[in-house]
Amino acid sequence: MSSSARDGGGIALLAGRGSFEKVPSLCAGRRVLVIASAGALQRSRAITWLPTDARTFTAFRPNPTVAQALAAAQFCRSSGVDLVVGLGGGSALDVAKAGRVLPADAHDADEVIAGRRPAPADRPELLLVPTTAGTGSEVTSFATLYQGYRKVSLDTPAARADIAVVDPALTETCPPRLTWTCAFDCLAHAMESLWSVRSSARSREWAVAALRMLIPVLTDADDLPDTAERDTLSRAATLAGRAIGITRTTAAHAMSYPLTAHLGVPHGLACALNLTWLVPLVETAQPEQVTDERGPAVVREAVDTLRIAFNAQGMDLASVLRAMIGRRVEPPYGDARCPRRPGARTDDAWIDLLVAEGMSSNRMTGTPVRLERWQVRAGLETILPVMRSAGGHQARLRQAR
Ligand SMILES: [Zn+2]
Repeated sequence: MSSSARDGGGIALLAGRGSFEKVPSLCAGRRVLVIASAGALQRSRAITWLPTDARTFTAFRPNPTVAQALAAAQFCRSSGVDLVVGLGGGSALDVAKAGRVLPADAHDADEVIAGRRPAPADRPELLLVPTTAGTGSEVTSFATLYQGYRKVSLDTPAARADIAVVDPALTETCPPRLTWTCAFDCLAHAMESLWSVRSSARSREWAVAALRMLIPVLTDADDLPDTAERDTLSRAATLAGRAIGITRTTAAHAMSYPLTAHLGVPHGLACALNLTWLVPLVETAQPEQVTDERGPAVVREAVDTLRIAFNAQGMDLASVLRAMIGRRVEPPYGDARCPRRPGARTDDAWIDLLVAEGMSSNRMTGTPVRLERWQVRAGLETILPVMRSAGGHQARLRQAR
């Protein structure tokens, strides 16, 4: 059953099974540009429901670059469309957001990304249709792009969709690894939003609701979620997306970007692995290390809420997380073609580079505890082996149990 609602950010949300059936009528009579991977176009049988003069843009890869986003924007401007449809996983939705928002000129586009210039006022409408459950991108006003190895964030209300269609049936074709990687992204969104220094009563409510839905599925589902569990994952993803729409993410996301760029670790997995070393630092932070101006009690409450959500009273959350990751996604977690070590001659220099890149992300600023460079470095050193080899991870998992 599908439902519709308009949230505080002005997004008309059509959610639930069958909601995708409304997309053809939303496109009818419009000059449409669909931004999607070739696979997503085919799986959605786009040719059967798109207006015959619709344009398509598929020239981007996972973890899209600023150049790919700019090409989408140039195509969008030159096509004179009045509706951009983003269809696919987080990468497709991010390119669709950028395609809708960025000016065609490269310098002007850089200025918009840097926040020094507003997005063009004459922009087409934006309809986002996620085909994975996890990123929550359909309800946020930011997009993640890469420039070389560095993550840049396009963050402007103009990147927010006018309409989001969240039909869990579209996630049925996601294989296990993609399904769980996306679920871990959602988990990181909910956990990080909950403890963010920017949390509000509303964002915490959404984050907790997402965790309550998500954790039982991560814990109990078979290798692939069943229909009801798919529905739950999609709902949790949108809720966690709304939560980070208010708070943004924190250090686990900040430190994930270099792991994705240099080691090819899928985004959600990189975030979850970072949580395994970040959680203990948040759990055990002394009052003087707390950066949340509302005081240490707020952070303690967030940690207590997490313990209840994970049903982990008396256990350490990091072990619970490690076991959850190990159960859902087989190592190795990095891409065999990586690592890329630009300009770094030694392992030490390379890890320093990962730390420096991650810590320069503005997502660090939401972290509720002060993180020293050496702590982040030590944290990364605990997970680098599990990204490089399966053996290291299994040994670590055994240790954790
Ligand atoms: Zn994420």
